[in-house]
Amino acid sequence: MTDLPHPSQSSSSSSSTVIRTDGLTKVYGRVTAVDDVMLDVRAGDIYGFLGANGSGKTTTVRCLLGLVLPTSGSIELFGQAMPKRASSVLPRVGALVEGPAAYGHLSGRANLEMYDASGRAPSGPMGGGRRGRRHRAEEALSLVGLSAVGARPVRAYSLGMRQRLGLAAALMRRPDLLVLDEPTNGLDPQGIREIRELLLQLHAAGTTVFLSSHLLAEVEQLCTRIGLLDRGRLVLEEQLDVLRAPTGRTVVETVDVERAAELLGPAVEAREGERLLVRCDDPAAVNARLVGALVRVRQLGPERRTLEDVIDEHTRARAAEEVPT
Ligand code: ATP
Repeated sequence: MTDLPHPSQSSSSSSSTVIRTDGLTKVYGRVTAVDDVMLDVRAGDIYGFLGANGSGKTTTVRCLLGLVLPTSGSIELFGQAMPKRASSVLPRVGALVEGPAAYGHLSGRANLEMYDASGRAPSGPMGGGRRGRRHRAEEALSLVGLSAVGARPVRAYSLGMRQRLGLAAALMRRPDLLVLDEPTNGLDPQGIREIRELLLQLHAAGTTVFLSSHLLAEVEQLCTRIGLLDRGRLVLEEQLDVLRAPTGRTVVETVDVERAAELLGPAVEAREGERLLVRCDDPAAVNARLVGALVRVRQLGPERRTLEDVIDEHTRARAAEEVPT
């Protein structure tokens, strides 16, 4: 993979809103796929849009990109109304939705060049001519690690290679915003890691990333901000570091668990094997106390909730609200 092109907007405008929806709703017959959703995605976010299968992620993404019209509510990208201002907004957006489409008999490179030629006015130093397209295609192929197979027909590509090609297409216009629907679908662990690294590089170069996923681990490792959809409703939107802030308890792992429990007394809230959960928000103080008494501490640190805990809590809270009385 190569160095990154810089998008036109730098991450310095980190407080500005890139995606905003107000009361976004999409109804299909009897199904309310998206229900009164208020999204707030800011410049510089890597926004993880989480939700179980069928929770409405793809429908939301399609609405954002103007691929389906909402039943009600409004959408703004970069402060401009969608889909009304699509022609000025979409050149700043790279998207990969529901698997990439490509002509199997053409090479990856030719697909990218054709996509660029048929798309909206390309930006960037090489301009919109054939040379410019070729240059951007090479750059995009290299970014996603497909340079070596760029000349092969796409029908010979694996699922993972096709997914990368879709990502390369999304990068052709050097977007300020990348919207990706399940971007690691079909990739093996190595491929998932490479895409994660690429997205982090793009983010560091100033690209805002909006990524839908049902893979908690992926989102937890990559994202700075989380939105959680539950049956069409946005039940949580928050910075990941806030969600994963210390709980005020300290986790201790020690082979001398009896002795440690005795020393810490009633501050010990729970004990499981060689692991103690201690009611104290100062891990250094707990450590000093234990080490001072020659307790052999294997591991010690602040307790943080996992994203899984947070999501369980919010989806359970909604289910409880809905229990008939
Ligand atoms: P997945 O992770 O499985 O892709 P998702 O979170 O992306 O799910 P959507 O594909 O947006 O969810 O679907 C949300 C709901 O809307 C589902 O009940 C789905 O059946 C319904 N739905 C989506 N598109 C249509 C459509 N074109 N016509 C009718 N119902 C639809």
